[in-house]
Amino acid sequence: MSIYPLRFEPIYQYRLWGGRRLSGLLSAPLPGDGPIGEAWLLSDRDDHQSRVANGPLRGQTIGELMEEFRGQLMGKLAPRFHRFPLLLKFLDAREMLSVQVHPSDAHPDLIPAGETGKTEAWVVIEAGNRSRIYAGLKPGTTASDLRHSLVDGTIANHLVNIVPKPGNGVFIPAGTVHTLGGGVVVFEVQQNSDVTFRLYDWGHVDAKTGEPRPLQIDQALASVDFADSNGGLVTPSVMTTTLVERERLFDCEHFLLWRLRGESPFNVGAAEMPRVLVCIGGSGWLESAGSAYGIEKGEVWLLPAAAGACVFHPNSAVSMLEIAIPE
Ligand SMILES: [Zn+2]
Repeated sequence: MSIYPLRFEPIYQYRLWGGRRLSGLLSAPLPGDGPIGEAWLLSDRDDHQSRVANGPLRGQTIGELMEEFRGQLMGKLAPRFHRFPLLLKFLDAREMLSVQVHPSDAHPDLIPAGETGKTEAWVVIEAGNRSRIYAGLKPGTTASDLRHSLVDGTIANHLVNIVPKPGNGVFIPAGTVHTLGGGVVVFEVQQNSDVTFRLYDWGHVDAKTGEPRPLQIDQALASVDFADSNGGLVTPSVMTTTLVERERLFDCEHFLLWRLRGESPFNVGAAEMPRVLVCIGGSGWLESAGSAYGIEKGEVWLLPAAAGACVFHPNSAVSMLEIAIPE
């Protein structure tokens, strides 16, 4: 069997800070009536395996595909990755998330076996008057400043404060203190890791347990990069404007992300390299190996390396994210 463009089912996650806004973004109905903070869109983690939603491979997990079809799926990257290296999510942060930090790969002592550091980045989808993103420390902030601010609840005074607008890109390299909330919906791309250290949680109590969530202050402070980092709001670089406006938002050692906006057919994908497409506005169809694949808002598609470059045909104005893993 040969592999083809794959759509994955979202995996919804209860979070005390979440809301119900992902129902407007994704076609799969939200479960129950509680707060849903995260939809995991592509996840090759043992505890949460994304499943294919289309075609003959429907129901197979990404982990199974990485075993059976790694060469076709990953192309030139196949020798380097035994599990899919990126974790993709939508977040709906009605309340503030905990103030947190993820360690970098330079801190193996802080990273459990089998995990990696975690660099992540956000593309803002929806934001309102209350929405806030905190990304990075104000210049000169020390570990002692942070420790004191946890006691009197003034940590936000030490953090770079961003009032997010739809379309903003925010880069959070490992080691950056960060949080977001106040009714903001973002797309998140990150290294496939689940190592998070919480510094501060705003006095939140989890309605499910009646308890505050645990903090990991010492590990968090040990993970913080106190030097000037390149995190925060990014300025997109415009790559092309003909046929499609292609802007690059993120370019780091773990992922690249472009935003594509247009109404005329344009190219996506690359020879012998996998790409991921996330449709954040409009709809259209993808032409690959003589077949047509309808793509709707909120859907996430993995273009296997074997598919190479393909043409995307918008039905009308479309806004799409394309993600690559650097060679
Ligand atoms: Zn984070």
